[in-house]
Amino acid sequence: MAVVWLDDVRADDLDLVGGKGASLGELTGAGLPVPPGFVVTANTYRAFIENAGIDDELFSAVEVDHEDSAALKEAHETAHDLIMGTPMPAEVREEILDAYRSTGEGDAFVAVRSSATAEDLPDASFAGQQETFLNVTEEELLERVKECWASLFSERAIYYRNRKGFPHDKVDIAVVVQQMVDSEKSGVMFTRHPSTGDKKIIIEAAWGLGEAVVSGTVSPDNYVVSRDTGEVETATIADKKTMCVRDEETGETVMRDVPNDRRHDRVLTDGEVDRLLELGELVEDHYESPQDVEWAVYDGEVYMLQSRPITTISEDGGADSTETKTASATNVGDDVIMRGLGASPGIASGRARIVTKLDHLDQVAEGDIIVTEMTMPDMVPAMKRAAGIVTDEGGMTSHAAIVSRELGVPAVVGTGDATTTFEDGEVITIDGDKGTIREGEEPEENQRQPVEEARPKTPVKPMTATEVKVNVSIPEAAERAAATGADGVGLLRIEHMVLTLGKTPERFIEQNGERAYVDEIVSGVREVAEEFYPRPVRVRTLDAPTDEFRQLEGGENEPREHNPMLGYRGIRRGLDNPNTFRLELQAFRRLFDMGYDNVEVMFPLVNDAEDVLQAKEHMIEAGIDPEKREWGVMIETPAAALSIRELADSGIDFASFGTNDLTQYTLAVDRNNEHVANIYDELHPAVLKLIGDTIETCREVGVKTSICGQAGSKPKMVQFLVDNGVSSISANIDAVRDVQHEVKRVEQRLLLDSVR
Ligand code: PEP
Ligand code: MG
Repeated sequence: MAVVWLDDVRADDLDLVGGKGASLGELTGAGLPVPPGFVVTANTYRAFIENAGIDDELFSAVEVDHEDSAALKEAHETAHDLIMGTPMPAEVREEILDAYRSTGEGDAFVAVRSSATAEDLPDASFAGQQETFLNVTEEELLERVKECWASLFSERAIYYRNRKGFPHDKVDIAVVVQQMVDSEKSGVMFTRHPSTGDKKIIIEAAWGLGEAVVSGTVSPDNYVVSRDTGEVETATIADKKTMCVRDEETGETVMRDVPNDRRHDRVLTDGEVDRLLELGELVEDHYESPQDVEWAVYDGEVYMLQSRPITTISEDGGADSTETKTASATNVGDDVIMRGLGASPGIASGRARIVTKLDHLDQVAEGDIIVTEMTMPDMVPAMKRAAGIVTDEGGMTSHAAIVSRELGVPAVVGTGDATTTFEDGEVITIDGDKGTIREGEEPEENQRQPVEEARPKTPVKPMTATEVKVNVSIPEAAERAAATGADGVGLLRIEHMVLTLGKTPERFIEQNGERAYVDEIVSGVREVAEEFYPRPVRVRTLDAPTDEFRQLEGGENEPREHNPMLGYRGIRRGLDNPNTFRLELQAFRRLFDMGYDNVEVMFPLVNDAEDVLQAKEHMIEAGIDPEKREWGVMIETPAAALSIRELADSGIDFASFGTNDLTQYTLAVDRNNEHVANIYDELHPAVLKLIGDTIETCREVGVKTSICGQAGSKPKMVQFLVDNGVSSISANIDAVRDVQHEVKRVEQRLLLDSVR
């Protein structure tokens, strides 16, 4: 038997049908309505490679050094070609097509998904690339099944298994083929309140296919249903402007406007709410834990598409406290010796280590406080050991501020002269919220490292239509960033990876070759993309001002500029001197080839459509198809904000506000100049006007908007952005939870306002 029906699959058939197949089978077996379908078993794949005699060749082709990117690419291509070039036996073809024909009427569309099996591998999702093909017809079906088999040998999957030492011949792959549900309405259901853990069913519902609700592109209706009485306690009816539907001609999923007479209609009937409640009870009983369910209504029937445990509810059944801040130190007051900017929250005491040269770094011991003029990429290992960081120079967006926030180390920056005020070895206490430094030690119970707070075991993640993402600059912070439950990375800066080389890109390439430079970028980005997969990771091409490059080997060749912030940086440098820019784009291409389809490309400091079109041309030359990949630009200059319509016409998918720069260029305030720091204001009405107008235009033309500047972590900016309909907000690691809750609060207020 090449295939088994989902009706006949049980949870312990994991080896036969893989993780996805088993969970759909389990739902079916529990009497829950799952769209009909079948699984091409893992044995079918195994028999295919063994009977064709390609198994040995396949497994030996992928035994390569996983850090050698060229070898990895070749291994993937060999394996892919072997599988795709080997014909499927006639009896298997017939069996799959027979099963397909009895799934739906006539020319039914099906979804084809890989479902890997892996003995002893704790997370089977890593066993292979989880390929999904939607809207597949009979004609394409067999090729798609083979594509799923080949997905077991994506570069990403080979890399992962080789790195973990996991044998390739221990992983098999099944393929789930399921009827596509052309839902009239759909949404998600939580069998407990995901924030409070209360015994209530929460349902979100919108018209059309579920993608619109799951991706947050539409504000859905919200129903709160008591599980004790079955009563609908509140039904908040949203203005549902758009819906996802299947295009009848192409079969593709497209966004359409909701007809005016249905926009304000309640989506769910009482009968459907009752049915969902019934299904919610069943599925929670079955799994013995609160569930997060995707559902759809088609032809009067409620279907369940997927069920997962709710990860936000702690073991005692309640949700984690949303209160993250503990009381501040009690005795911060008159004894404050010095003030700066509180750049990374937390209170820490330790011995001051005055670091003036790099060779002092090995003297920084665990628990010391680094006091330095300004931090450099080479200091990161010492910064990790330190209990706190103090700098003379720099603002909230300086290297020290960004890195310490990501590492979760309290920091006070821009103190002016801490390096000459404190003695080496003197015990001091820093408060990274208030930006103060005092002499002496704070009692242990008052000290507070932000790491634990920002990393709860079960992060509370309220449901929000606006996505909340996280900013990452150092790949080492990826795990901590992912643990926040953020919806992806809104900005991954590659400057840090490049500055860590200790040489300018030009010098590094001169000494090590182009390929080594591409490899460096690939390996840094991969660490983050892997950690977040499949959540999206927006990676920005290089944007380092010349003064940052000057400190590196080869920096003597950098142009001397009066104001590097207004100078040779961002896309203007990339376009003027495309040699290294092209290599960055090649790194993106490599990542896509390796299977990191969650990576998105972002261009910094564009001014107009001309910049964007040229950058796009380079992207195409590097072999990246802009139609297939998500790509976009930073909005960091008033020129970019004012040209948004033309930028949109050049094909961007998203525009992300870089408020650190947008503020400095709108107000003519150098963000690194402490003399004008008091008038640097990201909430200045002029900055907000540029942002608000840009969001409005982007909404009209279907371009997503986001913020990835420091201001995205500020509640007032969050309120402004959500009020104006931004698509996502990217915050610092330590701010993600607060931003999630702030977004939720604003969205709830908007919903209530819309029904008043
Ligand atoms: C910004 O300008 O807001 C931004 C995020 O970019 P950077 O801080 O790296 O200039
Ligand atoms: Mg910027």
